[in-house]
Amino acid sequence: MVLTGRRPPRRRVAVAVTALTSAIALGAAGCTGADRDMFRPGAADAGDPYVPGHGNGGYDVKNYHLDVRYDPATDRLTGRATITATATQDLSRFNLDLVGLQVGAVTVNGTRAEHRRDDGELVVTPPDGLSRGRPFTVTVDYAGVPTAVSDGALGSGGFLHTADGAVALGQPDSAATWFPVNDHPSDKASYELAVTVPDGLSALSNGVPGPKSSADGWTTWRWSERTPMASYLSTLVIGDYRVVTGSHAGQPMITAVAASLPATGGAAGSLARTGEIVDFLASRFGPYPFESYGGIVVADDRVAYALETQSRPVYGPAFFADDRPNPGVVAHELAHQWFGDSVSLTRWGDIWLNEGFASYAEWLWEEHDGGRTAQRNFELQYASTDWSQPSVEPGRERMFGAAVYKRGALAVHALRRTVGDATFFRILHTWTTERAAGSGTTADFVALAERVADRQLRPLFDAWLVGGAAPTLP
Ligand SMILES: [Zn+2]
Repeated sequence: MVLTGRRPPRRRVAVAVTALTSAIALGAAGCTGADRDMFRPGAADAGDPYVPGHGNGGYDVKNYHLDVRYDPATDRLTGRATITATATQDLSRFNLDLVGLQVGAVTVNGTRAEHRRDDGELVVTPPDGLSRGRPFTVTVDYAGVPTAVSDGALGSGGFLHTADGAVALGQPDSAATWFPVNDHPSDKASYELAVTVPDGLSALSNGVPGPKSSADGWTTWRWSERTPMASYLSTLVIGDYRVVTGSHAGQPMITAVAASLPATGGAAGSLARTGEIVDFLASRFGPYPFESYGGIVVADDRVAYALETQSRPVYGPAFFADDRPNPGVVAHELAHQWFGDSVSLTRWGDIWLNEGFASYAEWLWEEHDGGRTAQRNFELQYASTDWSQPSVEPGRERMFGAAVYKRGALAVHALRRTVGDATFFRILHTWTTERAAGSGTTADFVALAERVADRQLRPLFDAWLVGGAAPTLP
């Protein structure tokens, strides 16, 4: 044992030395070479096939601090964006999304950086590479006449110049029309906004209001949203509004209705129920996830939709046509505060996770408000559903289609029928709690439901979300 054991050790030593030597050699070469090679450009989009070109890679934004001034008389916006981010790779350069507008100076960590435009991209090359894991700060000075984007699916979005101001709104994209941004929901961030408009106009946005200040005929409104927000959930509404500032459950509640709409009646009356509807939804979904409440009704018909902009949804005027109340749309947009805003998508192919639950919340609210039961809505919808269209991966053209909304809601109710009320609402609470201020995918939701229910549910979700034939009623 000793003798035979002697030679192998010498060989092993020899081998080990050789290995070590080559490791050092590789390491040395690898280090220099790799360091140079690994400072590479960040991706020009988020890799989401539903929104080619949107979002970017190589960094993660923590905060947007936006300082903008808008003059409705000239439709000109000037701004400075200060963006705090962390590099997620060794970055030689990176992209921000910015549609239209002219860019002046760009700095990275206080030093002037080269920049160029490439269609909807602002490409920034700092003088030195940015190391992975290190925070960095970008400032972008920009100005110009912001543009709308027309997307067929939802009507006009982006920055709309209105009769008395502007509305910046839209899904899946809108933010890049008024500030440089990593414009994809997979990168959520906190926001601070200071927006300066002529005296007499309101300037409304997400989150908690800060102090207002006036000088030389201009007023600066301030807003902050501390809970991470997806960029498409940001909004800016400027114009002549009747603003009601109050509080609900100890937090600010700010609602606003365009002054050209009736002072009382459908729009104002429905918005006034925001607190009541939030409380009802909180009793089903868990605690309200943000630090402020509210809603804004705009008068511009081009906003042919309502959008769950974080903490303060924006509603188009058509929802309250003929001055009719519409608490159902309020319930839908407020339900999104849990499903979509607090727990966000990482890819648009999972949009049923937003819309299926928000549509289901309409059924819950209707039943609570003395209308049809959720079960009855389920039966009616089941009978009229086209099962050939899937809820998951609906395709770009059907992102806002019935399979996402209605079939999604059917799947939610089918889950409830299968696991029973107690387990069902425990699943929803667990999802909104564990994923709060974060995100999730369809697979994450199915896994969580199976864990909470302690049973296999994948076949149920498959049948109700993507199966090609009407599933058996649970
Ligand atoms: Zn919705």
